[in-house]
Amino acid sequence: MTLYDTLEPHLEDLLNRARAALLWLDAHSPDSHQVDYIQGIADAYSHVLGQLGLGTPCDRRECTYYTHYLAYGPPALSHDQFHAAERQCERMQQLAQSYLDAGRDVPPNIERITRTWENKVRA
Ligand SMILES: [Zn+2]
Repeated sequence: MTLYDTLEPHLEDLLNRARAALLWLDAHSPDSHQVDYIQGIADAYSHVLGQLGLGTPCDRRECTYYTHYLAYGPPALSHDQFHAAERQCERMQQLAQSYLDAGRDVPPNIERITRTWENKVRA
C-alpha cells in the first residue's frame, strides 16, 4: 500500500464534498466570500491530488509490476521482490549478452541462472 493509495481516496472524497458545497452555495447563497473560501479548499485538494499523482511509476501503478507482471496471473513476488528480481534478471541478461558480444557461447550455468530470473519476472 503506497502513500498515494492511502491518501488518494480520502482526498478525492474531500474534493467531492467541496465541489458539492460549491454547487449548493451556488444555488442557495449569494455570498461570494463563502464560495471563494470553498473554492480555495477545492483547489488545494485538487493540487495535492495532482502532486501525489506525480509520484513514481510505482506510485501511479504504471511500473512493470502492474503493467506486465500481474498480466500473467496472481503474483508470486511482492512488488519490492519483483523489482529486486527484475534488477537481478537484467544483470544476468547483460552478463549473458557480454559472452555473445565477445563471440563466445553463454556458459550453461549463466544461461540457466538467467532463465531462472527471467521466469521469476515473467520476462
Ligand atoms: Zn513498481
